Amino acid sequence: MTFAATVLTLYPEMFPGPLGVSLAGRAMAEGKWSLNPVHIRDFAADKHRTVDDTPAGGGAGMVLKVDVLAAAIDHARELAPDAPVLAMTPRGKPISQVRIRALAEGPGVTLLCGRFEGFDERIFAGRNVEEVSVGDIVLSGGECAALMVLDACIRLLPGVMGAASSGAEESFEDGLLEYPHYTRPPMWEGRAIPEVLRSGDHAKIAAWRKQRADEDTRLRRPDLWERHRDARV
Ligand code: SAH
Repeated sequence: MTFAATVLTLYPEMFPGPLGVSLAGRAMAEGKWSLNPVHIRDFAADKHRTVDDTPAGGGAGMVLKVDVLAAAIDHARELAPDAPVLAMTPRGKPISQVRIRALAEGPGVTLLCGRFEGFDERIFAGRNVEEVSVGDIVLSGGECAALMVLDACIRLLPGVMGAASSGAEESFEDGLLEYPHYTRPPMWEGRAIPEVLRSGDHAKIAAWRKQRADEDTRLRRPDLWERHRDARV
C-alpha cells in the first residue's frame, strides 16, 4: 500500500524538495509513498485570490483566512478521507516518535503549512485538525516542519530502510537516546574508539551500549529520563 501525503501550502514548489533525493526519493520512485502538494491559494474565493487578512484586535502581520483553509482541507479530505490532518504550528503538541510511528502505520497524512502569523484559530476545532509543533523554535513557514514530519514517517515505511533492524534501535524508540557510534580509524587526533567496541565480546558491547544510552539520556535529556523511569515503576 502507498502512504499518501497531501501538503496544503502557499509554496507547493518547495515539495518534494529534499524528499526527492536519497532514501525518500528512491522510495517515492518505487511507489512506496506519494506526494500531492496542494496550493492553498486555489481555494481563495475572491478575484484577487486573497488567502490572508489583518489580525482581529490589531497587531503585526497577517492571518490565514479560516474559510480558505476550510475549503483546502475539505478538498484534501475528499482525496484522502482516512488521513489525519495535522497543522504545523509552534503552539501545537510537540511531535514524537510514537506519533510518527502511528502515522507511518496509517494510510497517509495531510499536512497544513502556515505562513505569516499563522492560522485563524477557529480552523482547528471547526475541521478537527491536530496541531503539532516540531520543536520550541519559530520557522518562517510550516513547509520545513512538514518536510520533517514526512521524512520521519517515510523512513519507517516497509521496505524503505535498508536493514530491517535499523529502525528499532534508534533514539526515542525505547524512550531513550541511542548510544554513540564510532568507525575507523581506531585512533584519530589522539582520540581512541572505546576499547570495549573493539573487543569482539558482544555481550559486553551490548552492556556498554545500554549503559551509555541510559547515562547520556540522564545527562542530556533529564525530561526523557524521568519519563522513562516513571514508565518502568
Ligand atoms: N505567530 C506564530 C508563528 C508563526 S510562524 C506564533 O508565534 O506561534 C509561521 C508558520 O510557520 C506557522 O504558521 C507554522 O505553520 C510554521 N511554524 C513555525 N514554527 C513552527 C514549529 N516550531 N513547528 C511547526 N510549525 C512551525
